[in-house]
Amino acid sequence: MPIGVAPLAQRELDPMFDDMRTRAGVNTLFTFIYTHEPHRAGMVLEGSRPANFHGGNYARPHMQFYKDTPLTLADMTAPEFGGVDVLERIIPVAKKYGIRVFPFILEDNQLPAAVRQNWEKLYEVDHHGRRTTGHPGGPCFNNPGYRNFTLGLVEDYARSYGIGGMMWGSERQSGFLNTLSVSQSSGMDPGKTTCFCEFCQKKGRDQGIDVERARQGFDAVEAFVRESRAGQRPRDGYFTTFWRLLLKYPEVLAWENLWVTSRHELQAAIYRKVKSVNPDLQVGWHVWQNVTFSPFQRAEENLSDLAGFSDFLRPAVYNNVAGGRFVTFVKDARQSVFGDLSPEMTLEVLCQQLNYDEAPFDRLAATGFSANYVERETRRAVESVAGHPVQIWPGVDIDVPVGAGEAHCKPESVAQAVKAAFKGGAQGIILSRNYTEMKPENLSGAGNALRELGMI
Ligand SMILES: [Zn+2]
Repeated sequence: MPIGVAPLAQRELDPMFDDMRTRAGVNTLFTFIYTHEPHRAGMVLEGSRPANFHGGNYARPHMQFYKDTPLTLADMTAPEFGGVDVLERIIPVAKKYGIRVFPFILEDNQLPAAVRQNWEKLYEVDHHGRRTTGHPGGPCFNNPGYRNFTLGLVEDYARSYGIGGMMWGSERQSGFLNTLSVSQSSGMDPGKTTCFCEFCQKKGRDQGIDVERARQGFDAVEAFVRESRAGQRPRDGYFTTFWRLLLKYPEVLAWENLWVTSRHELQAAIYRKVKSVNPDLQVGWHVWQNVTFSPFQRAEENLSDLAGFSDFLRPAVYNNVAGGRFVTFVKDARQSVFGDLSPEMTLEVLCQQLNYDEAPFDRLAATGFSANYVERETRRAVESVAGHPVQIWPGVDIDVPVGAGEAHCKPESVAQAVKAAFKGGAQGIILSRNYTEMKPENLSGAGNALRELGMI
């Protein structure tokens, strides 16, 4: 069960842990322990959004682990909650309830002004040469300062606390897919393809990629998307024009691959670092829900590629909120590659390609996805890592916030999703996405299903 740090720093822990344990047999907490985003710190949910939010590490940074990074102790220390070391506070109490603690490091999607001075140096550069400060850009996987920080952070947690393991995640995709706006995040700016920082340029050149051609290719893709959005249908149709861009600029795909493999290299390095400290710690990855909507990101985020450096995977299969998210995905995808298809046809094509059987376009946001989606995506994940000792712990939707008019979870729908995950072959589930968002009766719905299955 993931949880923001605000309740862990401020609330009485015993009643909260007792509630999780009693309602749904929770045995592992994934704490959003390092974040510069107020909502992940749990502060928005707790009713306060400070104007000058800082964030950082909600445990105490031990500086011997942070070498060769421009970040200072002040950059990394979260000043909120009066400097309480959340891991130190919760681990002994959680243990009483048979609950293990896993730090959950979810890459930031926005960089607050309070830490921009040094953090900005670690962020990606877009194809126009501008430094990014947030989604769809983010910290660069090839920036040595960011790699050293991340590896230092995981070593710090592994050595300094009695944790059970760790989960890391990145809710992003490659710059090309952002440029095309095939994403659950609506209205991406096609001028922000990343990353063209000095380190990525060098790595690209070392791999034999013509950096300037890649950049020109992204300029051409950007123009294609801007014209599509302006309602100018390409003479030869959207799909043909898209495909022709790839033929003309294969460097775009090479740059795409560079971004994806660089993230996987960082994940492998995190895995090796934690295992070198303590091989018993379980290391795994949050997998962004967009992977389940996009045949393009599904291709680049091949779960089989993660199998060699994972103990567990948490594919986000939030079925209730998926309806609205997929409708957004369809609308945006029609601004480029799928521009020749109606929304209804686009949805039908994508559902066929992705192997889903869901409600039609006009009803999808109001109904959400079915539990069957949870089962199918869980099974796909299980089959992707077959032959490796990797467990699949899908993230099951319990009251992930939805837009106006969209479906809400009910105890019975949550119970169906839980059962579907195990039917698909899951070895565990992660009740998602944040304890403080969940209605107690819906968490109990998950517990009821787990009891029925004999899991708790
Ligand atoms: Zn870079």
